[in-house]
Amino acid sequence: VNENLYLHRKHHAIEAAIKDGHTDTGIAAQLHVDRRAVARVRKMLGIPPMTNSTSKLYKILKYSTAPDADGHVLWTGRRNHGTPVIRHKEQEYPVAAVLFEERTGRKPVGFTRSECGREYCVAPSHLCDDVERLRVRLQLRALYGREMPGDQCSQGHPWPEHMSVGPEPRLVIYCRTCGTNRARRSREAAQAEQEES
Ligand SMILES: [Zn+2]
Ligand SMILES: [Zn+2]
Repeated sequence: VNENLYLHRKHHAIEAAIKDGHTDTGIAAQLHVDRRAVARVRKMLGIPPMTNSTSKLYKILKYSTAPDADGHVLWTGRRNHGTPVIRHKEQEYPVAAVLFEERTGRKPVGFTRSECGREYCVAPSHLCDDVERLRVRLQLRALYGREMPGDQCSQGHPWPEHMSVGPEPRLVIYCRTCGTNRARRSREAAQAEQEES
């Protein structure tokens, strides 16, 4: 028996949803069909089941423009305070972090942002986390023949754990811990002043 002859009555809708990157469970709920029916259509099409991460990537692809001449990719989907995000299983994920993890195979450290000068660009290769950003900016300093940092900041906090490098063109090196200390000291000073008055 050729089972392809007996297509599900919603076969075409199921097929379209599979090709659109939805999960079997999602399709079953959406189209009010049995999950096994969806799995059968998927098998016929030869499309592997969606995992959590491929499903997230499909959603991202759907709201990403094609790269422009400089490789920048714009986001047409949902945002949270400007930041591109997707919803997946009742949770919100920053697009940059999902793409970074897909490209590098590890979770990003700190903030993941585009390093190409185009704010909120979501081209995977334009996205850096704190670790990559530091490396790239130090490489740029070396490339421009700038003075390279020693082993620690002026207060003895070891590099590179405590180091940050600002954006081009200045690429200023600063200590995150001293920055934090300074911020705390000025907060405490402001507080003390308020309490005195
Ligand atoms: Zn870009
Ligand atoms: Zn320091």
